[in-house]
Amino acid sequence: MARWGMLIDMFRCIGCHGCTYACKMENNTGMGVFWAHVYDYEMGKYPNVMRSFLPMLCMHCEDAPCEEVCPSGATYRRDDGLVAVDQDKCINCKACMMACPYSVRFENPKNTYFNQNGYPKDEKGFSFRLPGIVEKCTFCKDRIDKGKMRGLTPGVDWDASPACVNACPVNARTFGDLDDPNSELSKLISIQKAEVLYGELGTNPSVYYISANKPVQRKIKTN
Ligand code: SF4
Ligand code: SF4
Ligand code: SF4
Repeated sequence: MARWGMLIDMFRCIGCHGCTYACKMENNTGMGVFWAHVYDYEMGKYPNVMRSFLPMLCMHCEDAPCEEVCPSGATYRRDDGLVAVDQDKCINCKACMMACPYSVRFENPKNTYFNQNGYPKDEKGFSFRLPGIVEKCTFCKDRIDKGKMRGLTPGVDWDASPACVNACPVNARTFGDLDDPNSELSKLISIQKAEVLYGELGTNPSVYYISANKPVQRKIKTN
């Protein structure tokens, strides 16, 4: 059984938000909800200004505070490491939103950008989101599960890989099996000495960053 994870290279990320909108399209998230948001930092004082981008998503923590506090069992961890939400069990208490140290959980609003006829995907293949339920990045589990049924490899084959990974124009995002030492993901994490965000909290995230704790600094041209 694989244990899915992701690596985000902050040296490569150009802050284009392609991942943000690919995620919205794939998952039909509601208005104002961004499971894959990108923080944009500016530092310094003109003319010595620096800029850095931090793409965020659910970290799919091995020891997930959101799962611990969920009173209804709606939040659970799958055998492949994905932290998921059972829409039918969520009672909208929002305890998970408060417990998540990464602020990556969102309550589904009533309105989405696309049709919601059908469950879990509408006739155009967009995911259906129940209003009022608390949700978050799923690592695009529908793509992983369907891809695997077709014999495809998540992180290698486009049809089995997360939408944000496919959309990134500079290959800043790598997806794969953390338990396979030969996966590109595992090799990059090892070679690049990648780190997790807020490792000191003991949540054991499945998302790694190159340069997470040392913001990448890019000079903004001022003339
Ligand atoms: Fe839960 Fe937050 Fe960890 Fe995701 S990042 S598994 S929502 S605690
Ligand atoms: Fe969104 Fe899928 Fe990327 Fe998660 S893995 S941020 S659900 S596109
Ligand atoms: Fe960064 Fe890639 Fe997302 Fe663009 S698509 S913001 S380069 S991670």
